[in-house]
Amino acid sequence: MSLQEDKTNIAILGGGPAGLSAGYYARKNQLDFTLYEASEKTGGNAVTFKSGDFYYDSGAHRFHDKIPEVTKEVKSLLGDSLKEINVPSQIYHQGKYLDFPISPLNVIKNLGIRKCLSIGWEVLGQRSNGDPNNFKSATINKYGRTLAESFLLNYSEKLWGIASDQLSVKVSGKRLEGLTIKTLLKEVIGGNSIKTKHLDGSFYYPDLGIGQIMDCLAEKCGSENIKLNKRVSKISHENFIPGSIEFTDGSSTKSDQIISTLPISILLEILDPLPPTEILSIARSLKFRNIKLVAFFLDKDQISNNASLYFPDSKLPFTRIYEPKNRSVKMAPTGKTSLIVELPCFETDQIWNETDHVIIESIKSQLIQLSFIEEKDVINAEVRNIKNAYPVLEKDVDEKLLEIDKYLSQFKNLHLIGRSGTYQYNHIHDLMYSGKMIIESSL
Ligand SMILES: Cc1cc2nc3c(=O)[nH]c(=O)nc-3n(C[C@H](O)[C@H](O)[C@H](O)COP(=O)(O)OP(=O)(O)OC[C@H]3O[C@@H](n4cnc5c(N)ncnc54)[C@H](O)[C@@H]3O)c2cc1C
Repeated sequence: MSLQEDKTNIAILGGGPAGLSAGYYARKNQLDFTLYEASEKTGGNAVTFKSGDFYYDSGAHRFHDKIPEVTKEVKSLLGDSLKEINVPSQIYHQGKYLDFPISPLNVIKNLGIRKCLSIGWEVLGQRSNGDPNNFKSATINKYGRTLAESFLLNYSEKLWGIASDQLSVKVSGKRLEGLTIKTLLKEVIGGNSIKTKHLDGSFYYPDLGIGQIMDCLAEKCGSENIKLNKRVSKISHENFIPGSIEFTDGSSTKSDQIISTLPISILLEILDPLPPTEILSIARSLKFRNIKLVAFFLDKDQISNNASLYFPDSKLPFTRIYEPKNRSVKMAPTGKTSLIVELPCFETDQIWNETDHVIIESIKSQLIQLSFIEEKDVINAEVRNIKNAYPVLEKDVDEKLLEIDKYLSQFKNLHLIGRSGTYQYNHIHDLMYSGKMIIESSL
């Protein structure tokens, strides 16, 4: 164990998409940096696992073409390995399959004209009332009670783990952005000829999984600039100027600039001196939702045509299943496929602490009951734990973050990016863009 002090110009803390992007753009701009990652590999929560000849991602990832300059960068990094994919997703509702995000024509087809007329009546009759800073009332106001309760509120409560009237409106992310009364009516009147923007079935995907993007970024960062198995345990500061960064292995370093992608609640706990107690108690109130992934490797050619299948039914413990092969054929050997199940949970939930065997058997019997798989097709199965998958955005999240921000803004040379790092529900393209911006504008 060495206590010798190093020195680096920019210290990037965490090697997920945000940290790797900051490193990538630092290198592009000829800036010296060192990236410190706690685990034995980079990629964070956007990696691809290999199990025998099967590959699957740490959750149903897609690369979205939302920020042209980021898409251009990823295309130039991956070349022909990055493909544009057009595969829709669906919702599984009482044995029926509905388009996701919700399409009115499809709802009519599956739920019948009567239910749709009542949904339409509810939607048109909605008056803006209730707390706009609350996902439940905002969703009922916008889509009517039937649609909200059948597909949106139950799903969100399962995913985020708290009551929908305690959730911020921000949890819908950008998924429901294009779904407005106008687009609904347009689609009903125009029929299938109107291509609705909210039917988010088009995305980019690398041949060998989402982790390929992260591997390319890591390669461009240069292995000499990445230090693995380096868990940050303390950041000392004097008058809000960071001094040394300490690691759990006893080593330390100094840097002129720190870019942190560590979960914001961890960052605040490892500052020395510590923040005031009010700030610490806000930090301790921030919750992160974990995901348990259950992967089934199957001796079957294909289960469905979907990119993802969503399960709003509160009686089922999972929110989503996906078939990696439908994103890239290279994700499974010829003639075989896999099914990956996402189980959201908190660290204190029984499911998080359950043995892999119990979880596999329980999910397997539910999938058999729903006729997705047959026992004879299962070659193998495994469980993976994805920690800090989602920051749980409660309705008062903005006020909390404002207080934290006020405190952190006193620091010189400490910059925060990342999903858990900024406590935002953001995606790879946002994270890559934030890595670029922090390097090009702030340092
Ligand atoms: C189930 C799921 C599905 C998703 N689907 C999509 C999608 O379709 N499209 C999309 O664009 N995005 C998607 N995402 C989002 C994306 O994967 C995450 O937003 C992204 O991984 C966050 O990147 P990050 O760098 O901010 O944090 P992370 O990926 O969490 O990386 C943080 C890194 O910091 C390290 N670290 C933590 N503590 C320390 C410490 N003390 N010292 C040093 N290192 C530390 C961790 O080991 C980790 O490697 C999905 C995420 C999940 C979980």
